[in-house]
Parts: sequence; C-alpha cells; structure tokens
Amino acid sequence: MKKVALITGANKAIGLETGRQLGKLGVTVILGARDLGRGEAAAAGLRAEGIDARAVKLDVVDAADIAAAAEYVESEFGVLDILVSNAGMSTEGLGPNSTLTVTDENLRKTFDTNFFAVVNVTNAFLPLLRKSEAGRIVNVSSILGSVTLHATPGSPIYDAKILAYDASKSALNAYTVHLAYSLKDTKIKVNSAHPGWVKTDMGTDAAPMELVDGAKTEVELATLGEDGPTGGFFHMGQALPW
Ligand code: NAP
Repeated sequence: MKKVALITGANKAIGLETGRQLGKLGVTVILGARDLGRGEAAAAGLRAEGIDARAVKLDVVDAADIAAAAEYVESEFGVLDILVSNAGMSTEGLGPNSTLTVTDENLRKTFDTNFFAVVNVTNAFLPLLRKSEAGRIVNVSSILGSVTLHATPGSPIYDAKILAYDASKSALNAYTVHLAYSLKDTKIKVNSAHPGWVKTDMGTDAAPMELVDGAKTEVELATLGEDGPTGGFFHMGQALPW
C-alpha cells in the first residue's frame, strides 16, 4: 500500500519541495494550502512530474479548515502515514534583536501559527495516524528554537534574538518532546526538524541552502525506519541541542 502524507503550508518553498521529494519516493502527497487555488496549482505541477499529488484547503489557524481536511483524508484514504507540520511564519524578519520591541500582537500571531496550530492540526489527524503501520510526525522547527544555543555565547545563533519566532519554535520543540512521550507505546514517531537556512521568502536570497537540500531533513524524518529516533531535534541527520 502506498503511504499517504499531509504537508501543511505546501503550496511553495520547503513544504512543496518536501512534497516533491516524498512523492518521488512513491508516497501519495496531500499539499495543505490556505489558498486552495495555489495548492491545486502546486499539486498539478507535481503530477506533471509523475507524482501522486493532490491539494486540500488548510489554513492551519482555522478550526473549520482543520476539521474539513481531516474528514477529507479520512474519506479518501482512511489513514494518514506522515504528517509534516511545515506551515510557519515570522513577522520580525531576520532583523535585529526584537526582545524589547516585539508587540503583544506579533507574539500571539506567531504563536497561533507556529505553535497552537500545530497542536490543533496534530490532534485532528492523530486518529488517522494511529491507523498507520508506521506513523511519522515531523514538526518543522528551527535552530532558532534552540534555547541551549541561544544561551551559549559564540553559538551560530547567539546574536539572532527574534523573540516571537524563536520562542514559538522553542514551544514547538517542547511539544515534540511531550507528544513523543505520549505516543511512546505506539508505532508513531515524532521529531523536530531544522531545515537549515534555506532560500525561500522566509529565508531570503541571503540563505546559503537551496530548496532541494532544505527539504532533506523533513523527508528523512518522515521516512524513518522502525529503529529510528523519536522525540529528537535534527538537522541533516545530526542531533541539535534543545
Ligand atoms: P515560506 O517560504 O515563508 O513558506 C511558508 C509556507 O507556510 C507557505 O506555504 C505559507 O502559505 C504557509 N503558511 C503560513 N501560514 C499559514 C497558515 N496559517 N496556514 C497554512 N499555511 C500557512 O517559508 P519556508 O522557508 O518554506 O519555511 C517552511 C518552514 O520551515 C517554516 O515552519 C519555517 O519556520 C521553517 N524554517 C525555515 C527556514 C528557512 O531558512 N527558510 C529556517 C528554519 C526553519 P502562503 O503561501 O499562503 O503564505
């Protein structure tokens, strides 16, 4: 049986490339997109490459969208093997330390997408993931969520203190650890991924990594074997400090 994957925020960039790479491995990919038209266009592009791809409308901060997307996957497939929570945002750019200036509104908006939405989407799809022979959950985090590296002078991210984004990804990492613990007696593995600094709208053209490499960590964690890790934080096969 072909595996079925749902990737959120997959109409472009790292999410779409993750769909492409999973699709090339023979996985049926469902691209979640808040704009269904752009999701359909992305899915059509993958189908033209020979991939079994489709799109579903999924604004991850919209409870009705989440419920409808779960119903769609249930009725079409009856199971979900892979959930990649990739949709993410930052209102602070890559700019200077925002700790003293970030607004309450920006904090809440960022947490809504990068943290609360991931919990809500995961809860909605867990019943379908439990039906999989080997469920895999990938929470797309960031090295900027590493509290340890933020607290370590000289670390590569020591001076990159964009509070809303960083804290939202730290919270997401905490969710990964808590969820992996809660599912430790099941076949489901849960891990956080740092894609790397990747050329996308979020990563900007200044980023050193191309998309093709930026999706590799997600794909690796989405296709872990039975002996693979759970409850970890990885970049390209290497564990990162929390
Ligand atoms: P991107 O180019 O900005 O794309 C973000 C994707 O998320 C878009 O498809 C966007 O949809 C979608 N999205 C945002 N809010 C959404 C919502 N409420 N509902 C559904 N989809 C939503 O970003 P990216 O660089 O590919 O980043 C993907 C993930 O990797 C994010 O979680 C990001 O934090 C993480 N990450 C990226 C980098 C990097 O260097 N690029 C580094 C570390 C971590 P629209 O097209 O509709 O806006």
